[in-house]
Amino acid sequence: MDNPVILAVDDDTQVLRAVERDLRSRFGSAYRIVAAASGASALDVLARLTLRGTPVALFLVDQRMPGMTGVEFLTAAAATHPDAKRVLLTAYADTEVAIAAINEIRLDHYLLKPWDPPEERLYPVLEDLLSDWQANFRPPFEGIRLVGHRFSARAHAVKDYLARNQLPYRWLDIESDPEAAVLAASAGVDAVAAPLLVLPDGTALVNPSNAEIAERVGLRTHAALPYYDLLIVGGGPAGLAAAVYGASEGLKTLLVEREAPGGQAGTTSRIENYLGFPAGLSGADLARRALAQANRLGAEVVTAQPATGVTVDDRYKVVSLGDGSRVSCDALLIATGVEYRKLDVPDADRLAGSGIFYGAATTEAPFYRGERVAVVGGGNSAGQAAVYLARFAEHVTVLVRGPSIGAGMSAYLVDQIAATPNITVRLQATVASVHGGQALEAIGIAAGDPTEVHRLELAAMFVFIGQAPRTEWLGGLVERDTGGFVVTGPGLARDGDRVAGWPLTRQPFLLETSVPGVFCAGDVRSRSVKRIASAVGEGSMAVQFVHQHLSSL
Ligand SMILES: Cc1cc2nc3c(=O)[nH]c(=O)nc-3n(C[C@H](O)[C@H](O)[C@H](O)COP(=O)(O)OP(=O)(O)OC[C@H]3O[C@@H](n4cnc5c(N)ncnc54)[C@H](O)[C@@H]3O)c2cc1C
Repeated sequence: MDNPVILAVDDDTQVLRAVERDLRSRFGSAYRIVAAASGASALDVLARLTLRGTPVALFLVDQRMPGMTGVEFLTAAAATHPDAKRVLLTAYADTEVAIAAINEIRLDHYLLKPWDPPEERLYPVLEDLLSDWQANFRPPFEGIRLVGHRFSARAHAVKDYLARNQLPYRWLDIESDPEAAVLAASAGVDAVAAPLLVLPDGTALVNPSNAEIAERVGLRTHAALPYYDLLIVGGGPAGLAAAVYGASEGLKTLLVEREAPGGQAGTTSRIENYLGFPAGLSGADLARRALAQANRLGAEVVTAQPATGVTVDDRYKVVSLGDGSRVSCDALLIATGVEYRKLDVPDADRLAGSGIFYGAATTEAPFYRGERVAVVGGGNSAGQAAVYLARFAEHVTVLVRGPSIGAGMSAYLVDQIAATPNITVRLQATVASVHGGQALEAIGIAAGDPTEVHRLELAAMFVFIGQAPRTEWLGGLVERDTGGFVVTGPGLARDGDRVAGWPLTRQPFLLETSVPGVFCAGDVRSRSVKRIASAVGEGSMAVQFVHQHLSSL
């Protein structure tokens, strides 16, 4: 943390220099002495200090300054720094003003100019005030601070992005946190309209894109080389596993991730069925470990960078990225997984991020402490979210479309839900409508008879109703099934054992697509088992086929 500041303000340069010199000689080792020649410039200094999170211990301010008097400055500064001690430098004629200020702005002390000798007339007073300040001082939070409105969809997206990249941050709600208002005012922004991200060095980013955040916090967002042996698109379990195996087996490996490493698994509150973790582990933990392993073994990982297109140029596959660059490779692994299916009811899009969330239970759960929420879906992801949310929310209603909760959910989750008193399951229930102005307030539930809709008042709804493959960036390059999932290996054969359009004499490898050297693993693959362990298994297996492909070139 920066040393706390003593801020001296005086328009008379000679006096200011003298104050500065005296302050520095006595307090310079424990405090940063900052001088300003007017009230207005002192307020600018304060705004910068606020953004940096640097505490201010004491103001020593001349009363008679043109433009803004000392009392006027201290009044303005008290709004943002209520705990800093306030001392006014006065001439004899200002004594009355100073005495009035003791009551009006809680002035701690006034000093008559000149203050010589400082050992008698300046230091004892300031030492007393500073020790009082130190006794009550709590060091400020030093990491990233995010200021925004609780129902801002963009603020939600930034929170999610920070959490998924394991970047610790403190959330400050502009409606209820006084520090939030101070930070927004210091940066001169309306944090209700757009979230404000304040970095530890005081840099304020208004409504930053993921790429901008990544860039500013030092995450790698651009590929270092024009060519790689293996280029993996997608940083979920499948992609991360391939990065670990590819790099460890000597392949020059690049992994490109659109958002943050971890994929769907990274958003999971508790994974109970992953081998080797008998007590379970969180998705964030798994992602953090896998990323560290991939980095340690020498894979290059680029985040906040989507693949936007791909072409084949002879033996090379050329992938276009969101930053406009192109990277080529000999082997390409498609590991782009799936994304959540959205609710198809009016206004659901408008309220997305403002009470309606897709797979963001872990990020948002703490903000719904003591409130009533719902989870939509009957699969394992919905079950996990319900159990996790029940730790924070007053009550969780789970809406399952089918007649039984056990049909799509593992037995251990069904048991956990049954044993959690603040979870209610409603079967054969679907969301017929959503209601709310600025944020979600209620939903209409159709149960059985679609003409009968029951209203349920809610603060938030978490939706897990299935997924669609992320293949839009592939254009028509590889063969896909009717659901859009990428077909590989034996699935490509039609009319006997010949693969249509396949140019080689050998058959496609198990995880190879209809284009030689283009592989696919994980949830995005047609007929894959949609589980973390299988995605990891496929990602690692794919590297074996990559080796065989490379050796045939
Ligand atoms: C809430 C929830 C809980 C779950 N719990 C469990 C569990 O307990 N046990 C279990 O076994 N399974 C669980 N699953 C399923 C499991 O998470 C998935 O099967 C697994 O994550 C699939 O891994 P993947 O790497 O194939 O794809 P994903 O995890 O979907 O990762 C794909 C990645 O590709 C990125 N991407 C997409 N398009 C692009 C592009 N154009 N450019 C760059 N990157 C791109 C995405 O951002 C994403 O990070 C759960 C899923 C969810 C949603």
